[in-house]
Amino acid sequence: MSGIYIHFPFCKSKCIYCNFYSVAALQHKEAYLSALLKEVEMSTGYLPDKHVATVYFGGGTPSLLDVSEVETILTALSQRYNLSADAEITFEANPEQLDKQYARDLKSIGINRLSVGIQSFSDNLLQLLKRRHTAAEAKQTLLTVFEAGFENVSVDLIYGIPYRSENQWNDELALAFSFPITHLSAYSLTVEPSTLLDRKIRSKQFLPIDERIEEDNYKQLIDKAQSSGFVHYEISNFAKNGCFSRHNFAYWEGVPYLGLGPSAHSFDGHSRQWNPADIQQYVQNIEVGHREEEKELLTIEMQFNEYVMLMLRTFKGIDIEHIKTHFGVQYANRTLQHWSRVPATYYCQPEASHYVLTAEGMRFADKIAVDLLA
Ligand code: SF4
Repeated sequence: MSGIYIHFPFCKSKCIYCNFYSVAALQHKEAYLSALLKEVEMSTGYLPDKHVATVYFGGGTPSLLDVSEVETILTALSQRYNLSADAEITFEANPEQLDKQYARDLKSIGINRLSVGIQSFSDNLLQLLKRRHTAAEAKQTLLTVFEAGFENVSVDLIYGIPYRSENQWNDELALAFSFPITHLSAYSLTVEPSTLLDRKIRSKQFLPIDERIEEDNYKQLIDKAQSSGFVHYEISNFAKNGCFSRHNFAYWEGVPYLGLGPSAHSFDGHSRQWNPADIQQYVQNIEVGHREEEKELLTIEMQFNEYVMLMLRTFKGIDIEHIKTHFGVQYANRTLQHWSRVPATYYCQPEASHYVLTAEGMRFADKIAVDLLA
């Protein structure tokens, strides 16, 4: 089984912290759409397995697509791939576009999972982050999507915002969990180079990120998620009733995927390739029948490093037997040797060969993984 990711690279405006590839102008949307449909045709030989278990519309702001355009893309995919009957089809949407009719129409064409970019339920913070919706719209959107019949709904929130008090974060979490959502993705506010946030912090127009606030917010997040019945299955992701993001989990587990659209990455099990992060360049490339902009062959060492980096962040952790089988005994022995330095409170061993980070340890997942890398 494989997954397909569609990158929609347009937004109405740029949020202060964003470094995803997207442009705040829609004039190339038509050219993008016809290139995307052509790319679907051109890429049919890429995946080793044409059985597709997950499709993910991300961006950018996919909810700037008309529903008929989303349907055209899905039809093109289903003509060339075997989409499983129970395929998870996720659509990222922002509250300002997600009215009842739009939500109903998305559902009627087969979208069965929504990921709603709420980020905060506070008007002040939304304005600071340069989000386009209000807190009232965020709440209304969540009511709307459940009324429209969606059962698998994820919410995105941002924590570690220096202007938010502990109580406010607690209240926002309580509000998110008061809706029948099945999934929460919560990311700390990160200062990516060359973003507006970066420039504002440098010019002292925005408070710098405070690690203590970030840490306290993270602890509150874990407590609140657990008491609301959510499983902390990846460092930034929480799910209820087994509603993990199947698409993302497959990616972390090294399942091949096809990425379509500007800046999208693809992985065939051995190598990774990616399209240019430039709409016009992407369109030109596809017009002349050229898909890959850059490609890298993944050596055993790179594959091992990715396995450790990605799986340590999940509730499955790393498995020494898997390492032995896929990468060799040397890698397994080396991992065990380095693991002996990890503090006992940072991990548990549900099975003898499995090493899984605890909530406390997960905060240091990246640091621990770096020590284990080949
Ligand atoms: S809506 Fe999403 S993709 Fe667009 S600028 Fe904001 S964070 Fe970035």
